[in-house]
Amino acid sequence: ARKFFVGGNWKCNGTAEEVKKIVNTLNEAQVPSQDVVEVVVSPPYVFLPLTKSILRPDFHVAAQNCWVKKGGAYTGEVSAEMLVNLDIPWVILGHSERRALLNESNEFVGDKVAYALAQGLKVIACVGETLEQREAGSTMDVVAAQTKAIADRVSNWSNVVIAYEPVWAIGTGKVASPAQAQEVHDELRKWLAKNVSADVAATTRIIYGGSVNGGNCKELGGQADVDGFLVGGASLKPEFIDIIKAAE
Ligand code: 13P
Repeated sequence: ARKFFVGGNWKCNGTAEEVKKIVNTLNEAQVPSQDVVEVVVSPPYVFLPLTKSILRPDFHVAAQNCWVKKGGAYTGEVSAEMLVNLDIPWVILGHSERRALLNESNEFVGDKVAYALAQGLKVIACVGETLEQREAGSTMDVVAAQTKAIADRVSNWSNVVIAYEPVWAIGTGKVASPAQAQEVHDELRKWLAKNVSADVAATTRIIYGGSVNGGNCKELGGQADVDGFLVGGASLKPEFIDIIKAAE
């Protein structure tokens, strides 16, 4: 049994006042227990300490990125060690926005995942194809190559959650259909079974991201291989609570 996982990626949004407001809304919500759903919210770096200090204890926080190796002369970067130092348990790595806008390659993301895990962080590793790649019929090749770059560098998968986020569904309102999501999640799980191990395939959570909202979450979450969500836009709204409740 894979525990349902709901992540809220706030991306580069918010003010301290807005963070307090969102967190207050989450803190007051009635949601299924931690035995049923794992909830992680990911504010921008500068709001991590604030968010962590006021967030209910059954929810956790994630950074949206970290540096690929030990800290040092890397202006503007934040190291995995710093996140560990602040008791930030999770980090999102390889988000498509960073792959596309900051040229993060599969290998670089794989190196980051391995380094963050080695420091004791838990990782939400993002994969997903562009519309062009989907239309060319290469969805699974792309997702497999992204996953392979991680698998080549990681041996212990117990602290990894894979987020399948088709780029064409992110921020577009064009959610993948439940069947489209299930198809890729199923193939990804088969890829893990073949290339990593049956145990890793059976236990690793594969969550879906891309225009998830309060209206579509239930059917998506009902798919056999969809183990939760990584939510962008809707995670900044009270609707996020409905998405958490899709775990039931
Ligand atoms: P949206 O939910 O806004 O489409 O964003 C998804 C996402 O990128 C989460 O990481």
